[in-house]
Amino acid sequence: MQIRIGNGYDIHRLGENRPLIMGGVHIPYEVGLVGHSDADVVTHSLMDAMLGALSLGDIGHYFPPSDPKWADANSMDLLTEVKGVISAQGWSVSNLDAVVVAEKPKLKPYLKAMRDRVADILELQLDQVSIKATTNEKMDAVGRKEAICCYAVTLLVKN
Ligand code: MG
Repeated sequence: MQIRIGNGYDIHRLGENRPLIMGGVHIPYEVGLVGHSDADVVTHSLMDAMLGALSLGDIGHYFPPSDPKWADANSMDLLTEVKGVISAQGWSVSNLDAVVVAEKPKLKPYLKAMRDRVADILELQLDQVSIKATTNEKMDAVGRKEAICCYAVTLLVKN
């Protein structure tokens, strides 16, 4: 059996007048993540892990911020594209595991919805998609509620 591991990381600044969208789920909060697309930091790190597993670069290569086509892009659409790239090369996701680092809001009530959404897009079982949350213990930019970041790993298997 051929297997590949990939890791991904992303961080976005929090700012006014933006929705907070992570793992494709709209989370009620006073500020949101700032970015060219919907700034879905969780989905971005997952996609970078999937592409990294096959040494295909990163999402900046597939969806360049310089291309107006991707302005305000829904990251769930990008995830569908990345799934297509992986599938076209004959690979499937065995599992994904992500940890979101956010001081606020409390993400626990939304983790299951994020996992459901990602599993749905990637056509995976719920137990193949792990999304966890922690805080940064009030340290650094994340701890000061200036940003949210996410780390992800994935294992791909050859079909
Ligand atoms: Mg990003």
